[in-house]
Amino acid sequence: MEKNVIRFSHCGKAIFCFFVPEQCPGCGVSFSGRRLEEAPVRVPNPFSNGHKAPCAFLVAPAEENTLREFDGGSDLHTGITDTNGVVYNYTRSGVRRDSQGWERCISVPLVQPDMFNLINQWDQYLEKFSSAQMWDPLWQSFHEETHNCYSFTLTFINCVLAAQSKRALGKDEFTRTFVLPRVKQASKYSTLCQEISQNHFYIVDSPKGDIQEGQNDEDRGDSKH
Ligand SMILES: [Zn+2]
Repeated sequence: MEKNVIRFSHCGKAIFCFFVPEQCPGCGVSFSGRRLEEAPVRVPNPFSNGHKAPCAFLVAPAEENTLREFDGGSDLHTGITDTNGVVYNYTRSGVRRDSQGWERCISVPLVQPDMFNLINQWDQYLEKFSSAQMWDPLWQSFHEETHNCYSFTLTFINCVLAAQSKRALGKDEFTRTFVLPRVKQASKYSTLCQEISQNHFYIVDSPKGDIQEGQNDEDRGDSKH
């Protein structure tokens, strides 16, 4: 079970931890019998169980990196879920259909809940797409740069967009708008968890009287790291 990161403010500092301590790690003041000026807030966890995210685009650390956390630099593996949370992902040996292994990843929903037509056809569509010759390793082989898990997911997303008469996404645009911001956020969250695991706390300066205190963790985190 993953621990949740919480955040509270004291003595001009923002303090990230898994549990509110008995005394402030910044100034040493005891909290026992006292109430914090502001309730601790939960920092949004960017990770979710991909098998519980139907019709979504998933990003996870590549297999060689399963022991490593998201550090922003590790290889990433991408996939697409069907309506039951089975993850279709393209590898050197062809398209895999994983029922497990994507329990901690970033998921981006690809359909709105009211797109009934699309949802009804999704599994059939994904299966047909995955069976195409271009993903058959005997027909066309995997290529590190040009024919990989990323091309598989992006090509599928573009087929879905085309079916909705929407414009196709270029690789760079897709990376910039869909992937990078979430990977960045996930990588920061991982760093935060590591810091807290090692040192119990992660402390940053937080200007007093900031009205956004506790409301905008991500943005504030951005400027502090
Ligand atoms: Zn303090």
